[in-house]
Order: sequence, then C-alpha cells, then structure tokens
Amino acid sequence: MADRRIRNIVIVGGGTAGWMAASALAKVLGPGCSIRLVESEEIGIVGVGEATVPHLKLFNRVLEIDEIEFVKQTQGTFKLGIEFVDWGRLGDRYVHGFGTIGHDYGLLPFHQYWLKMFRAGKAAPIGQYSINTLAASRGKFMASATDVPANSPLANIAYAYHFDAGLYARYLRRYAEARGVKRMEGKVVNVTLRDPDGFIEAIRLQSGETLSADLFIDCSGFRGLLIEEALHTGYEDWTHWLPCDRAIAVPCENVGPPTPFTRSTAHAAGWQWRIPLQHRTGNGYVYSSGHISDDQAAATLMAHLDGRALAEPRMLRFTTGMRKKFWNKNCVALGLAGGFMEPLESTSIYLIQSGIARLINLMPDLDFSPVLIDRYNAQASFEFERIRDFLILHYCATERRDSSFWRYCSGMSIPEPLAETIALFKDSGRFFRNGEEMFAITSWIQVMFGQHIMPQHYHPAVDLVPDHDVAGLVESVRSVVAACVEAMPMHAQFIARHCAAAPP
Ligand SMILES: Cc1cc2nc3c(=O)[nH]c(=O)nc-3n(C[C@H](O)[C@H](O)[C@H](O)COP(=O)(O)OP(=O)(O)OC[C@H]3O[C@@H](n4cnc5c(N)ncnc54)[C@H](O)[C@@H]3O)c2cc1C
Repeated sequence: MADRRIRNIVIVGGGTAGWMAASALAKVLGPGCSIRLVESEEIGIVGVGEATVPHLKLFNRVLEIDEIEFVKQTQGTFKLGIEFVDWGRLGDRYVHGFGTIGHDYGLLPFHQYWLKMFRAGKAAPIGQYSINTLAASRGKFMASATDVPANSPLANIAYAYHFDAGLYARYLRRYAEARGVKRMEGKVVNVTLRDPDGFIEAIRLQSGETLSADLFIDCSGFRGLLIEEALHTGYEDWTHWLPCDRAIAVPCENVGPPTPFTRSTAHAAGWQWRIPLQHRTGNGYVYSSGHISDDQAAATLMAHLDGRALAEPRMLRFTTGMRKKFWNKNCVALGLAGGFMEPLESTSIYLIQSGIARLINLMPDLDFSPVLIDRYNAQASFEFERIRDFLILHYCATERRDSSFWRYCSGMSIPEPLAETIALFKDSGRFFRNGEEMFAITSWIQVMFGQHIMPQHYHPAVDLVPDHDVAGLVESVRSVVAACVEAMPMHAQFIARHCAAAPP
C-alpha cells in the first residue's frame, strides 16, 4: 500500500501559536516530516499573551523543556492563580487559585461540607482552604516538594507561569530550529487553491518564492490569512455576551517583589490586567469601545500603573468569537487565527496547546478523512464555548450597576448551558463538569462564591455525617493549609534562589 503520510507542513506565522506548533510537531513527528515556518518581521507579532494556566507544564514536559532554564530565558515568574478586584462589588477581592480546595470526603466535594459550616458561621472564607489562594495572598511560592508525604498539599502545587511573549517566541524558535524546522522570512502575498476541491495548494511570498505543502497551519494572527482570507470559513461573533472589543497594553517598571498571581481589576468599562515579570510588569485595559472612548481608556490605564511606563501604550482591536471551522480542508487555524476570547482567565495559549494536541491525535493522512476533521471541529468548538461561558460568568454575576457597561453586563441574556450551571449551583452548590471542558469544579465555584452566588442549601448527604466530624474535617483542612503556607518561601526568594534571569 502506498505511504499516505503527511510529509510536508507549512506554518504561516511566527508568534506564540506558530512556534508552539512548530516545536511540538517537530518533536512528535521527527525528521521524517518537513516543517517550514514563514513569518514576517515587518508585520511582527501581537506581543501580548504573558499569563498562562498550569496546563503549559504538560506542554513543556512533552517537549522536555527544562523549567528553570525556561523561566530564566523568558524573564518568567510563577503564577498560583488570578486575583479579581472589584468584580462582584466595588471593594471586593477574591482569588481564583489553581489546584484543589480541601479534599473530597465520601461522595461529596469538600465545598459541600464547608458550606454547612460557613452558613453556621463556623468556617472561614473558602480561599483559606486552598493552598494556592492563601499562598498567593501572602506572596509565597514553591514548586511541588518531593520530600513530603504524597498526600501533603505541598507535594502537588498547581502553578503556571508569567513570561515575556517576545522572549517566549524566541525561546521556542531556537527549540524548533534545533529540531529541523526551517524558518523563512517573508510576507505571504498570495494563496493558490487546488481544483476541484479548493484545498490550499501553495502560498507565494513577496520574494516570488512558492511553497506547497500537504497540510497548512494558519498561525497568522487575527486576520486569518489562510483560514479566512483564502478559505472564507466564516466567524461566529460573541460580542453581545463579551462586549469588550479593544485593549490598550503598556509595560511598566516593577515596584516591589513580583506577586505570584495575575491581577484583574474591574474598571468602569472593562478590566485591567497586571502581569509581574522579572524585568517589568505587563499591564493592559481590556474595554468595550461602546462604553468608553480610547482616550479615556488610555488615561484610566496610565493612572493605574505600579511604576513608570516603559513604552507608549499600544491599542489592539478584536472581535470575540471563533471561526465556524478551526480545520477547513487542509488548513488548521491555531491561535488568534482560530478565534479570540479576552485574557480574563489566560486561556488563549492553553487553546493553542489543546489545538496542537488535538491535531496530533487526529493527524490525517493525505486523504484528509472528513470524520477526523469533523471530530476536531466539534471538540474545539465545545472547548471554546465552555470557556466562553466561564468568562461570561464573571460579567453576569456582578452586583455592580455603577456604569452603563456593568448595567449592560448584569442585564444581558446568557447562553442556556451557563444559566443552567448557575441555577444548579444556586440551588445547592452542585456543579458537573461537562465532558472534556477545560475548567474544573474548583475554578467554577471559586468564581461563583467570589462573586456572591451563594447556594440556598448544601447537599442533603452532608447531614449524614455527624456535625462534629464535618467541623473536624473543615478545621483540619484549614490548619494543614495554613501550616503548609507558613513553610513556603516568598516568591521573590524562590526566584532568586532557583531561576533569576540575567538583566535584559
Ligand atoms: C490584549 C491581549 C492580551 C492577551 N493576553 C493573553 C494572556 O495573558 N494569556 C494568554 O494565554 N493569551 C493572551 N492573549 C492571546 C495571545 O496573545 C495569543 O493567543 C498568542 O500570542 C498567539 O498569537 P498568534 O501567534 O496567534 O498571533 P501573532 O502573535 O499575531 O502572530 C502572527 C504571526 O503571523 C505573521 N504573519 C501575519 N501575516 C503574515 C503574512 N502575510 N506573511 C507572513 N507572516 C505573516 C506575523 O508576522 C506573526 O509572526 C492576549 C491577546 C490579546 C489581544
């Protein structure tokens, strides 16, 4: 039988998506497959995207990337979660910490026992039962310890990274080129489609050079050079649920030690991110242009920086949503070319990672079987939609009415699956993770508790456990978490000891 393997891949775009795809495919497919990546220095990369989620550790593990070296090379810091300020009400502050909260007991998750105690005035806020949340609020951090019992919270600390987006793309470029990926500098100016099936046959560069391939990966950013401009795939617009459509970004000087968390502060027409790196702090105001002018948004951002701005503010426009198909014919769109949701929960780089993993799982041969393509698109759309709903939760579960933006968000209609998730939780604190959706129960409940959605009841089975035992369980978790956090070093100390970067 003839060998029908994909032997020739062209990636268009050398931002985070392009180099992540090139690195992973080179590692997994090996030298038997030619991988070429085209990028244009003149066009450049989006240059934001500096906060991640813990899944990236798996990506690094598959690529056999050394963590310490990676953090040093990217001016990275560690991230235990996200602090949300002023979201539920003005003056509010809560942390969505990664990892677990307490531990399950019998058939029920920990928060059900906590709910009973909390309602009786006998429990602290839920964050005190999460090692991540407590450590984040104290500025502490350590990687999982290997010299403690396996059931200690210190043995399994869920964390992610903050890094410099430009340095990350360069780091991966070195990785991919060392594994045979060929980088080509130049602008793609034309795309040829094949008769009669409309597959992409070749791309032409400004230099006149033509590149053909079996599989094209579109990592060209928002414009979607292949997936949209050539293949006219179509885009689903979610602006009515997530009305922010612009961001202004600016780096500033560090003031004080880096926090081991990303901060998201709600403002009158959106929210501001704060991402601490070793050499600077990244900031940006994500806002709805229908509710504030660009000048006002820029002024708000500049008034809320820790230190001196290190560059001119830069504006980015976007339309929240996703392509109607992520994989169309012989083209797979990754990163901004596939879709975009604001970085409220740092999900975009994760979505690139999961898109790459899905492509490797469903790697076609030259026949491009439609069942593989359909499954890819169904999974990717589902994943996008559930993340979308999680983001909408932050906006619709607000008690703020102090601006036209927040009045819109608090009154807007929401997708049916999200309405059902909220109703189930409001009733008795129940939550069910849907299939392979990204965020687990602990993420959803922290945001719901953090934004004042308090269940009317706890699960009736909690009453099968004697009160004394429930109280003992809840208190033992609190004291173990507190003792573990006490033993952790400060985040800045940890970095200085293990992975301090050279000055830029
Ligand atoms: C405001 C904002 C904040 C964000 N924050 C986060 C965050 O905190 N966490 C997170 O996970 N994600 C975040 N993201 C998303 C993240 O930045 C992107 O997912 C990530 O950077 C991937 O971008 P990309 O590689 O798809 O596109 P880009 O970085 O835009 O790269 C596109 C590439 O295509 C090339 N290209 C384009 N046209 C051509 C052409 N004609 N010829 C040749 N080459 C071409 C460009 O040169 C470039 O190399 C954020 C996004 C925005 C807009």
